[in-house]
Amino acid sequence: MFDELSARFEDAVKGLKGQDKISDTNVEVALKDVRRALLEADVSLPVVKDFVADVREKAVGAEVVRGVSPDQKFIQVVHEQLVEVMGGDNAPLAKAAEAPTVVLMAGLQGAGKTTATAKLGLHLKDQGRRALMVGADVYRPAAIEQLKTLGGQIGVEVFSLGTEAKPEEIAAAGLAKAKEEGFDTLLVDTAGRLQIDTEMMEEMVRIRTAVQPDEVLLVVDSMIGQEAAELTRAFHDQVGITGAVLTKLDGDSRGGAALSIRKVSGQPIKFIGTGEKVEALQPFHPERMASRILGMGDVLTLVEKAQKEVELADVEKMQKKLQEATFDFSDFVQQMRLIKRMGSLGGLMKMIPGMNKLDDGILKQGEQQLKRIEAMIGSMTPKERENPDLLAGQPSRRRRIAAGSGHQPADVDKVLADFQKMRGFMQQMSRGGMPGMGGMPGM
Ligand code: GDP
Repeated sequence: MFDELSARFEDAVKGLKGQDKISDTNVEVALKDVRRALLEADVSLPVVKDFVADVREKAVGAEVVRGVSPDQKFIQVVHEQLVEVMGGDNAPLAKAAEAPTVVLMAGLQGAGKTTATAKLGLHLKDQGRRALMVGADVYRPAAIEQLKTLGGQIGVEVFSLGTEAKPEEIAAAGLAKAKEEGFDTLLVDTAGRLQIDTEMMEEMVRIRTAVQPDEVLLVVDSMIGQEAAELTRAFHDQVGITGAVLTKLDGDSRGGAALSIRKVSGQPIKFIGTGEKVEALQPFHPERMASRILGMGDVLTLVEKAQKEVELADVEKMQKKLQEATFDFSDFVQQMRLIKRMGSLGGLMKMIPGMNKLDDGILKQGEQQLKRIEAMIGSMTPKERENPDLLAGQPSRRRRIAAGSGHQPADVDKVLADFQKMRGFMQQMSRGGMPGMGGMPGM
C-alpha cells in the first residue's frame, strides 16, 4: 500500500540528514519533496498546499531533543500531520440511542457499495449485532441479486422489493421491518451512477428523508485519487455525509483519496476495504495508516523513545527538588501529569520500580480529577503552594481553599493526603535512587 509515497517521503528527509537543526532554509528543500510526493500520490492540490504549510509551521523551530536528528524530527512532524489530516482517532460506526441504527451507503457505481454493505453486515454480526441489509439499488443490473448472494454467504438477512419499487419506498419498508422484527442496524445499499449527477443526489435526499439515517457513509474507490476531493464535496454539500468507506486499498492506489476525504468534508473515514472478499474490511485508524504511508516505523519509535527520555529527565529534576526539600504543590501537579503521560505510553510505568507501590488512586486520576486538583491549587496563596506544610492543622485555610475552588473541605483533605503520599514516594525514590533505571531497555 502506498509504496511509492513511502519512498518519496524517504527522499524528502535525505537533505536534512547531517544538519544540526531544522532551519528555514533546509526545511524548504524537504518541503518541496513532500509537496512533490503528495502530488504524485494524486492528492488534490488544495489539500497538498495546506499540508505543506502546516508541516512547515510545525517543523521550523521545532525543539529537537537529545538523541534525535533533524531528519528524524521532520519525519515525526510529517507523521503527526498525516494523522491529523486523516482525522486523529478511529471513528466508530454510529449507534442510535434507539434501535435500529440506520446506515445509508452512498457513492458512485462500481465504488464497492454493495460489497461494503455486506462487509459491514458481517462486521456487525461479528460484534454480536443483528443487521438487516436493504437492496435499494434498483438501477445497476443484478445489484440486488448480488446483495442477496452475499447475504446468504454471511448469514445476514436481505430485504428488497425488486427493481420496480422506488428506492425510498424500499428503504422505508426495510426500516419498518427492522423495527418490527428487532434488527439493531439497517444497512441500505443505494444506487450509484457512473458520475455525480443530479438525479442520483435527489434520490439520495429522498431516501434520507424517508429513513432519517444515523449515518450516511460515502463509499469511495481509492483508485480515483484526487477526484475523491470533488466527489466528497459534492456528496457532502448535497446529501450530507457522516463518514466514508475507502475501498480497494489492496490495489495499487497511490493514496490521494485517503488524505482528501476528511480534509474537504470534515467527516472521517470509518472503514477501509482491502479486498473483494466479505471479510476484507477494517476499521480505519489514521495513526496506523500514517505509519504505513511513511513506512518508517523504526524512526518514529526512536523519536518516541527519545521523548520518553526527556520525560524521565523530568523525573530526575523532581528528585533533585526533593533532595533540596522543595517539592511543592506545583511540582505535584506536574508530576501527576507526567505520570499520566507515561501511563499512556504503555508499559513505561511498569518499568520504573516502585511505581506500582504508589497508590492506584493517585495513578488513576482522570483528566477531570487533575483539573479539580489544579483548581484547588489555584485557590491557594503562593505561600501555601510553595510551602504545603502550612496547611497541616489549619482547617480555616483548607476551608478557604475548598470554597474558593468550589469544593468541599474533604476534597481538599484528600488532595493533601495524595500530596503527602506522592511526596513520601518521591522521597523514598530519591533516597534509594531508582534502582534498575539505568538498565531500562533503550534508556
Ligand atoms: P457498487 O456498484 O458500488 O455496488 O460496487 P460493487 O460492490 O459491485 O463493487 C464493484 C467491484 O469492486 C466488484 O468487482 C467488487 O468485487 C470490487 N471491490 C469492492 N471492494 C473492493 C476492495 O476493497 N478491494 C478490491 N480489490 N475489490 C473490491
